[in-house]
Formats: sequence, C-alpha cells, structure tokens
Amino acid sequence: MDSLIKKTDHNLILPFYHIVSDDNPVHIKNLYQPRSIKRFKEDLAFLLENYKSISLKELISLNKEGKTIDENCFHLTFDDGLSEFYTVVAPILKEKNIHATVFLNSNFIDNKELFYRFKASILFEELKDEDVLAISYNNRNLLDDLALKNGIDFNEYLKEKSPYLTSVQIKELIAQGVTFGAHSKSHPLYKELSFEEQIIETKESIETVVDQFKLAYKVFSFPFTDDGVSKAFFDAITNCTDITFGCAGLKEDNAPKHFQRIAMETNKSGKEIIKAEYLYYLMKEKAGKHKIIRQ
Ligand SMILES: [Zn+2]
Repeated sequence: MDSLIKKTDHNLILPFYHIVSDDNPVHIKNLYQPRSIKRFKEDLAFLLENYKSISLKELISLNKEGKTIDENCFHLTFDDGLSEFYTVVAPILKEKNIHATVFLNSNFIDNKELFYRFKASILFEELKDEDVLAISYNNRNLLDDLALKNGIDFNEYLKEKSPYLTSVQIKELIAQGVTFGAHSKSHPLYKELSFEEQIIETKESIETVVDQFKLAYKVFSFPFTDDGVSKAFFDAITNCTDITFGCAGLKEDNAPKHFQRIAMETNKSGKEIIKAEYLYYLMKEKAGKHKIIRQ
C-alpha cells in the first residue's frame, strides 16, 4: 500500500457507501448490493491500518489552504441519507472514533417522499418486469401510475419502513459529531437536467439542509454522477459550497473544490477495491486520463 500511495501521490482517499446492512430492503435489493456489516468492519480495519480518519472540517480547510498532507488520510461519506446510517453505521463509527459525512436529499428527509429508483425496485419486486427498472427520472410519473394500477402504496411503504433518516435522528447524529451535506432535492441524473434545473436542485437542497440543521459549512455530493456537469456549473455554485463530491474513483478534477470518491459497494474487499483504484490510477496516468477536464 505504501508504495502505491507514494507512486500515485494520493495519500487522501474518500470511500463512499449508501447502506451497510445484513438485510436487503425491497427498495434497494433490485438496484445494488448493500455492504454487509462484516465487510464494512473489515473495510474500516483496513482503512485504519493504512490511513488516519479526518473530519469534514479538516478536509475543507485543507482544500481552502491548498495544503498537502503528510499523513495518509481518509474521510468516510454516505449518500442518500438512509436510516441504516443511524441504526447500523453510527454506533460502529462511534466505537472506532471515525469521522463521516452523510449527504441528504432534501425532499426525502423525514420520509416525506421516495426516490424514483427505490419506487422502481419496489415495483420490480411485484411485477418482475425489467422495463420498470429502466424508467428514467424524466419519466418517473410512470412509476406512480404503475403503483396505482397495481395497488402499491408508496406512502404506506414510507410510513411502514422509514427508509430515510428523520430530522430527530439527524440532530442526534450532529450532536455526536457526524457532518451532513446535500445530495440534491430529488436525486435526478444531472446530465438529464437543464443548467437552470441543475442549479435549483443544488442550491435549494444545500439551503434546506444548512438552514434546517444550522450547519456552519456547505457541502454537496452529486446524485448518481457528476459526469457531463460543466465548468460553468461549478463556477455558478462556488459561493454556495465549501467543497463538493463526485464518485469517479481515484481521479483528479479541474474543478478546484471538487473531490472524487471511491465506491465501496462491490463484491470485493475494501483492500482489493482501494488497491485496484491505485493500480487503475497509475494506468490512467500513463495514458494521461487521470484527470477530469471540465469544459
Ligand atoms: Zn445518491
């Protein structure tokens, strides 16, 4: 690991997850595999062996001051604001003194609304129709029509299962030192949105999260991917964000306040995932493809 870190000159890594759970909730099971508790604990053991956990505040100030760090560091992040962060993840992190940031979709806090991909997973479970899983954000009304036709009540599901964190849980987590950011209002694919819609989804979700939880910092992670998001977009949001996050793996980005993260929800161990990211980075570097250049 040490030689890979030195060769790539990347001693800061940002792993990202959605859900850690030994259950496979219906709203997720047809989309991706949750990280098991055992795997997650193994990931943490590997990370702690090779890196030091840093806080979001340290990450923001490192970026602001343009400093490089001497130590190998990591900061954990969790997208979509799922309730398993409270029930499963937070107690594990607390015990090991590990920092983490959770990114919330402002429309979904308190189980007010359900992500359209989660609706697709619930519908697929009943209908076993692959077409349901292919419905896009812009056609998401079709999911509500299908649910109505098939007697599936998403509001009932939200009430029964509470897939998302509640504001009470979020406040308790903040008191424990967990940091929070925004992840858009409704989780669209940004490249399917107009520039104006991208700005609204970003600015309004940050405003809601910062105001509601009285946060002294403003951070944002892109829903799905930042692929295709322009330099002009990053310029337009620079005053309403301290830093932002994508999920393109170990990569540099010409947006100066933007960090790329490593997806951890695969069948591999944390050690295998992170080693592979370093090796892949070295390959990309040789081909001059290790940096995202936004136009
Ligand atoms: Zn997400």
